[in-house]
Amino acid sequence: MTDVVDVKEIWNDCLEIIKSNIKEHTFNAWFKPIEPESFEDQTLTVKVPSQYFYEWISTHYNNEVDYALKTILGDGIKLIYKAEAPDSADSQIELVLLESKTPAIKVNSYRNDPLPVVASNLMSKYTFDNFVMGDNNRIAKSASLAIANKPGEIYNPFVIFGGVGLGKTHLIQAIGNEVLKRQMSKRVLYTSSEKFTTEFVDSLATNKTDEFSSFYRSLDLLIVDDIQFLAGKEKTQEVFFHTFNTLYQNNKQIILSCDRPPKDLKGLPDRLISRFIQGLSADIQPPDLETRIAILKIKSEGMNIDLSVEIIEYIALNITANIRELEGSLISILAESTFSNREIDLELVKDVVKKNTNQVAKKNISIDRIQKVVSEYYDIDENLLRDKTRKQEIAQARQIAMYLSKELTGIPLKSIGLQFGGRDHTTVIHACKSIMDMRNSDDKFRREIDEIKRKIEMFS
Ligand code: ADP
Ligand code: MG
Repeated sequence: MTDVVDVKEIWNDCLEIIKSNIKEHTFNAWFKPIEPESFEDQTLTVKVPSQYFYEWISTHYNNEVDYALKTILGDGIKLIYKAEAPDSADSQIELVLLESKTPAIKVNSYRNDPLPVVASNLMSKYTFDNFVMGDNNRIAKSASLAIANKPGEIYNPFVIFGGVGLGKTHLIQAIGNEVLKRQMSKRVLYTSSEKFTTEFVDSLATNKTDEFSSFYRSLDLLIVDDIQFLAGKEKTQEVFFHTFNTLYQNNKQIILSCDRPPKDLKGLPDRLISRFIQGLSADIQPPDLETRIAILKIKSEGMNIDLSVEIIEYIALNITANIRELEGSLISILAESTFSNREIDLELVKDVVKKNTNQVAKKNISIDRIQKVVSEYYDIDENLLRDKTRKQEIAQARQIAMYLSKELTGIPLKSIGLQFGGRDHTTVIHACKSIMDMRNSDDKFRREIDEIKRKIEMFS
């Protein structure tokens, strides 16, 4: 006998909980459009407007959804999102089935010989194809491709490091996806250092540490995101150390990410750090203008939004910090146009970007600050940057300061010109172009600019 349960009621209860845990506009944008479909065999099926919705929700709100389901329905519930295929051109609706992820540790418990395929935890949207290569990530991407080609054979471990929202997670998952694409039977696992820690602690509590260890040691490719969070967790560090060694000795590939060069990681023992740096470490830097434009093109196409060159350039010039924010701006644009029924034109884009950057502008980098740091760096009198002098070093420092003002502040070109001794906005454009050219052709110069940029950001 089956209970008659009203799926709408269940879903509404879940929504109430989700709603109390996230911002209202987020709730309206991402959860309101979802329609419950059925609840059978411990499986809740809901319909989302597009696959993109699913991806966005599962990357950003998985915890909230999970919490709501557990609260309303208890453990062991499967959630299936149904979405229309992204390229369904006409009324023919194709449905893509997407299931919530099975935690890795569960797979372990029904393990049998031969070893079953592991639930990798990888998100299929993270591929090499849609990862734009730019000066900011060239080495990291090339090395990743090489590793996907020959896991365990060239760089081991491989560490990608850099600031938030710059593509670390995307790239390390792309390696995993590529390895699986080539050989489905490979035991690939993506996890975060927090998840690793939680699972380990759980295994302690349930007397299953042996199972935990043997599971991790059975992998062909272990990917651990954000290892800086292992800091201070000594017991977890210890099992991680042994896991690492076993995998390494068996030529199994280990891929890690962290927010700074591994040698600068705090709260980790030297023996672990020395393991991390025995392979290859590659950094990812903030994207330059061209890379930002290329990324916006790819992302907007993926989201099926048609943006003019003018609009793309406007966003790329105004949103500079990282790629997550670039992506966020596209989402906000899409949401704004959907929910207020407006066409996506430059005016709408300007509204949205302004709203977003006002929130981000906490950083508050001023042209003043930029002029100060640049003149200190080149050891010249700050006033000369606002002067008419055409002496070469000064003219170049001035161009650099103009370029950085545009990159880092989002202040209109005209006002930038004014703050450099009343110069015209075309002078600023010219300065930006020549610095970008030099940056692209001269590695030493690029590093110099990056260093100045860091000094400016640190200052503010
Ligand atoms: P991190 O892990 O470094 O904080 P993520 O990998 O989560 O950053 O990246 C943030 C977002 O930006 C993701 O949606 C990712 O797909 C996107 N992204 C980052 N770098 C690129 C790139 N080079 N090309 C395309 N998308 C990118
Ligand atoms: Mg990440």
